[in-house]
Amino acid sequence: MKNKKCKYIFVTGGVLSGVGKGITAASMGAILKAKGYKVTMQKCDPYLNVDAGLLNPVEHGECYVTHDGVETDLDLGHYERFLGFETSKYSITLSGSIYKELIERERSGGFHGKTVQLVPHFTNLVCEKIEKASADSDIHIVEIGGTVGDYEGLPFIEAIRLFANKVGRRNCLYISVVYVPFIHTSNELKTKPSQNALKDLRGFGIIPDIVCVRTEEPCPRAICEKIASFSGISSDAVLNLPDVKSVYDVPFNVLKSGVLEILNDFMGDKTEPDMSRWKEFSRRRARKYAKTVKVGLVAKYVGNDDTYMCVTEALKASAAWNNVNIEIKWVNAEEVKDSDLAKLDGIVVPGGFGARGTDGKIKAAKYALEKNIPYLGLCLGMQVACIAAARKGGVKNANSEEFGASEADNNNVIYIMEGQKGKESTGGTMRLGDYKAVLSDKSKTKKIYEKYGWGEKTANGYEIVERHRHRYEVNQKFLTQMEKGGIKVSGTSLDGKLVEFIEAPKCKFFVATQAHPEFKSRPLKTHPLFMEFIKSLK
Ligand code: GLN
Repeated sequence: MKNKKCKYIFVTGGVLSGVGKGITAASMGAILKAKGYKVTMQKCDPYLNVDAGLLNPVEHGECYVTHDGVETDLDLGHYERFLGFETSKYSITLSGSIYKELIERERSGGFHGKTVQLVPHFTNLVCEKIEKASADSDIHIVEIGGTVGDYEGLPFIEAIRLFANKVGRRNCLYISVVYVPFIHTSNELKTKPSQNALKDLRGFGIIPDIVCVRTEEPCPRAICEKIASFSGISSDAVLNLPDVKSVYDVPFNVLKSGVLEILNDFMGDKTEPDMSRWKEFSRRRARKYAKTVKVGLVAKYVGNDDTYMCVTEALKASAAWNNVNIEIKWVNAEEVKDSDLAKLDGIVVPGGFGARGTDGKIKAAKYALEKNIPYLGLCLGMQVACIAAARKGGVKNANSEEFGASEADNNNVIYIMEGQKGKESTGGTMRLGDYKAVLSDKSKTKKIYEKYGWGEKTANGYEIVERHRHRYEVNQKFLTQMEKGGIKVSGTSLDGKLVEFIEAPKCKFFVATQAHPEFKSRPLKTHPLFMEFIKSLK
């Protein structure tokens, strides 16, 4: 093993998925980080997709993009928000990608005629991925998706059991998160599913060091003791984690449960975690302020926080740090009415794909531009703002190639650049991950980034880095008309070829970017554009 000093925490789930295994794991990570450790996290997901790029956001939640350009699911966003580290391609391991790598190696003769099997080939490759993902960290947390016993998850369970043989059992801590349902008709909590889940885990050779018992309400100690005695685990290690209002209360819930002593023993160190900033943040999130700001999120998939998780999290955190309550109003992009927009203090148009709902988004951008309503455009939100401005500036039917405008119409304000053509419909063809941009002198955009120290002065000018996930670009041939329509470019790629930021100089706050700043916003370090957008609504 290359990283000898690292300790590993493996988190599995029993009974049900979706009971907050990831948040529990991330909260433990936040606590360990607050003790001064370098903590990283990784998700092993048993489904057969190779990445999350083509997954339907309604079914699966938002697609999150790492700095090195991997399309993953929203769990990695939680990891970044809780731990403040940058996830990477090593932070996500999907069965599909492991099988793909194995099959490709087999096809190219890499196994020299050997039989390729789940054990040891799949499991060893998973161990390799865990080792890579943990390079340079003090503690590496691995969350296994799904629940123990699912067919497709078994090789991962075997891999994490095996991992302890490689690094030593004392360097591994196994946590099982189980759900204990409350049966209303008989008025009792039922531990049987948890007992069975722990029995399954034992059958695969893992006796957990900690069992987290998730319940709706705080449960009597006797419930934890019963689980402990039926599954051969010390009762001090069976901890109750009842539901809490906000995910940001989970670290405190976890601390209260008594986990710290076990983590301290595991790490061999008794220092107190410094949770003061988290405490401040969670207090602010819970507080009611005198002022409420109403922000409209003009979107295709309305009402589903998961689909725009990073955007809503960035907005809510910015509101908390700006001492205002926030009401996020979902505006269905297919039914945008001026009368609805008139009720809003500010408008956000987030990222999106395809033509559906884009007329409404263009309408919202136009409304914001004309009525001087604060506007934040994220990726597609910038493209529709450019279209709205170009239409005002004289390009009558200005549009995007993505929404069905043809090249011959000569009004593609947003177009697909040479070199990207012909690869529009499948995964793996987008501009993904971190790219640098240089911000224009005297622009509001630059002032905002400078104020928060989010960029640096270089020979090119003021440079910033943001994550991307898009295919289409602003056609700079229409810049004059866009300017006539009230919008100016305020940042470009370093070579000047791609428009990265725009703003409306006459508006109070009208900034949009081709990037996804929401991916870099964290509760304790909220993104400047979100902070200043919310500030402009006060
Ligand atoms: N559909 C647009 C493009 O591909 C915008 C993408 C996005 O909003 N993430 O360029």
